[in-house]
Amino acid sequence: MGFAVKRPQLPAGWPSPTTCRDCGVPALWTRTAKDRAMLVELDVSDHGNVLVSLHGGKLHAGVLGKAQAAAARDYTGLRLAHAVNCPGPRGAQAASQRGRS
Ligand SMILES: [Zn+2]
Repeated sequence: MGFAVKRPQLPAGWPSPTTCRDCGVPALWTRTAKDRAMLVELDVSDHGNVLVSLHGGKLHAGVLGKAQAAAARDYTGLRLAHAVNCPGPRGAQAASQRGRS
C-alpha cells in the first residue's frame, strides 16, 4: 500500500495533527492502552509498529509486537512513535528507555 502524496490525508474524523514541542514536526497526539500520551508520526512507515485508530473522537495508539505488526501491515498502515525520530529531548529519552526494554 503506497501513498502517492508525500503528506497522506488522515482518515475522516481524525483530530488535526499537532506539532512536536521539541522539533516542530507535525505529529499526532494519541493515548496508549495504558492511557499515556504518545506522539506518533503523521506518515505511515514501512517499519511502523503503532496502529492508530479513532475511539470516541480520540486517537488511540496500539503498540504492536513484531509478528503482530508484520500481519497488520498487510491490511493497514502503521506508524512510528515520533520519539523514534525526534531530534529533541523526547527522542533522547526514548533512546535511553530503549536499552531497558
Ligand atoms: Zn519532535
